[in-house]
Amino acid sequence: MFASLLIANRGEIACRIARTARRLAIRTIAVYSAADAGALHVESCDEAWPIGGADPSESYLNIARIIGAAQQAGAEAIHPGYGFLSENAAFAEACASAGIVFVGPPADAIRAMGSKSAAKVLLEKKGVPLVPGYHGDKQDLNTFAAEAERVGYPVLIKASAGGGGKGMRIVERAADLAAAIAGAKREASKGFADDRLLIEKYLDRPRHIEVQVFADGQGNVVTLFERDCSIQRRHQKVLEEAPAPGMTSDRRHAMGEAAIKVSRAIGYRGAGTVEFIMDRGGTFYFMEMNTRLQVEHPVTEMITGQDLVEWQLRVAAGERLPSAQDQLAITGHAIEVRLYAEDPRSGFLPMTGRIGHFRLPAAGRHVRIDAGVRAGDAIGIHYDPMIAKLIVWDETRDRALRRLVRALNDVQIAGLATNRDFLKALAEHPALAQGEVDTNFIDRHRETLLAQPLPIDNESLTIAALALLLRCEAAADAGAKSSADPHSPWATGRGWRLNDEGHHRVVFRDGETETGVMVHFWRLGHRVELPGATILAQGRLQSDGTLIAALSGHRLQAAVAFEPDAVTVFARGDARRLVVLDPLSLADADEGVDGRLAAPMPGRVVQVLVRPGERVEAGQPLVVLEAMKMEHTIKAPRSGTVATVNYGVGDQVEEGADLAELAEDE
Ligand code: ADP
Ligand code: ADP
Ligand code: MG
Repeated sequence: MFASLLIANRGEIACRIARTARRLAIRTIAVYSAADAGALHVESCDEAWPIGGADPSESYLNIARIIGAAQQAGAEAIHPGYGFLSENAAFAEACASAGIVFVGPPADAIRAMGSKSAAKVLLEKKGVPLVPGYHGDKQDLNTFAAEAERVGYPVLIKASAGGGGKGMRIVERAADLAAAIAGAKREASKGFADDRLLIEKYLDRPRHIEVQVFADGQGNVVTLFERDCSIQRRHQKVLEEAPAPGMTSDRRHAMGEAAIKVSRAIGYRGAGTVEFIMDRGGTFYFMEMNTRLQVEHPVTEMITGQDLVEWQLRVAAGERLPSAQDQLAITGHAIEVRLYAEDPRSGFLPMTGRIGHFRLPAAGRHVRIDAGVRAGDAIGIHYDPMIAKLIVWDETRDRALRRLVRALNDVQIAGLATNRDFLKALAEHPALAQGEVDTNFIDRHRETLLAQPLPIDNESLTIAALALLLRCEAAADAGAKSSADPHSPWATGRGWRLNDEGHHRVVFRDGETETGVMVHFWRLGHRVELPGATILAQGRLQSDGTLIAALSGHRLQAAVAFEPDAVTVFARGDARRLVVLDPLSLADADEGVDGRLAAPMPGRVVQVLVRPGERVEAGQPLVVLEAMKMEHTIKAPRSGTVATVNYGVGDQVEEGADLAELAEDE
């Protein structure tokens, strides 16, 4: 086994590969782009090397830079992960030329499967079943039209060099073919620098079932059984499971045999996945082979008890496969979901943003978490918006699904939109529980999977109000301790009052609905008046956002995450973001125009953004004040030069205090 490994990837897969390498006492070397200097994968390796700009072409896709880093670091081997250079034959060759072991198949095997058309030409001769279609060299419209007619509509047009669900078009009738071909060609040459296309019969409600194969350099090939990846959106997987629901041992054997035949046909070595598409009658056809570790490999690991990355490293180091076929067996059922920063309601559009509050379920025997980010990290425009993979295991599929729902309940993310609620609706869907899996599942059940959430309940509103006030009280306590004037009305500690009447009104906006909540200070806590109900609330808010509360006797644990103008409540597996419409937050509008910048309310300075002498434009943020545990930005009322800044970060200020002064422009 080699002593050092460079991981030419980022995110969760780089972290996951590092985990196994460290367990095998291999020195781990990360590489990172300019956008990733503070990324989790950098931290999870023994050392890390910068390889260039944020754009993948300048870093993670840049062969010369990666080989250069490997040579500098003295890496004996390179693991490419998935995506990026994992299926790039030139990269495998560049590793070999540099005397570095590429943890993956031989370059020729990558090349053989790189074109879906060429792979089909080869496998057709070997008797591997193919979806009826056309995968020839002729690429003119007449040929495509004649072939589509022969195959029969609807047909699916694919880019030969395609991947990741991109570059595919469904064509329902002959009249639409020409436009679809033109569009697919454009997309293919842009996305894959190769505009060759192929045609397949478009199957109705098929299933995507793939077989994990493994081959060593001594001629041994085994399968680690199948995964069902039929639950897809935009032809991309979101939920994968193993074994496939309803799989019979005969069919498993037949698919395994076909997968091994494919693998042998190209002299494969290492981990590979042979993807099949299965029609409703149970007939399966070869679709493509992915010559790398698959995103969804953890479900296979959970049911076989094997570590596929360890297998990859052993095979790459020249060892035999760790197990023979008859030593491998399936135990229980595993399901993976991909947690993405995306908005399911707007066509699963990827989202970007910074993860504020971030909590994932505790890992254990039944739950595995493969994450590549942590609280405070940003999901940016340069890379895949996947946040984490959640994998559950149990003895039966039903129990695994139940575990999945529980695990998703424990996912708390605030700060950016994710597909968590969608995944939960999926995991709870009765049709999924019945094993009704096919690639049209999400489209067919769109209504229920993307249903608008129910109106917010009173307990969640109470939690939000209670948390806000507890946060204010804590701030007031802290303020009182450091206040110069212990007799200030703001320094009354526990007896903190926002106003004389001993109550406070908060208005929350949930989507379109606004709800006013009145909170009275009560001897033992707070009395919360909601539309149609009164709840006696007691609680303790921890600094990590955990709220331990009793709401009219109902004891519960929730969590809250604050943003400057909103609070997200995580309770009973639900996440609700409420915009806080507070008269105090409007104080920003009160900045003077005479050059004095007065604090709109008592608070603490958390950021000073300018220095005396600095030129500022109207509206430019100058100082950020934290009051009521919400942030208020004090902006320049006009352009000018900063004359003085009167407070520093951490200073407590009284209402009306002059925070800074602007000099008149000459
Ligand atoms: P799979 O069949 O395993 O889902 P795909 O062929 O769909 O694999 O894509 C491979 C995986 O690699 C996808 O999950 C995709 O999100 C990821 N991927 C592809 N390109 C990139 C990239 N540039 N950066 C990060 N991840 C990528
Ligand atoms: P990619 O390289 O993008 O992964 P695939 O050929 O593996 O492309 O197909 C991706 C997905 O598209 C499949 O998982 C399946 O959902 C759908 N698909 C592919 N071929 C067909 C087909 N002939 N009929 C119906 N759906 C298909
Ligand atoms: Mg595929």
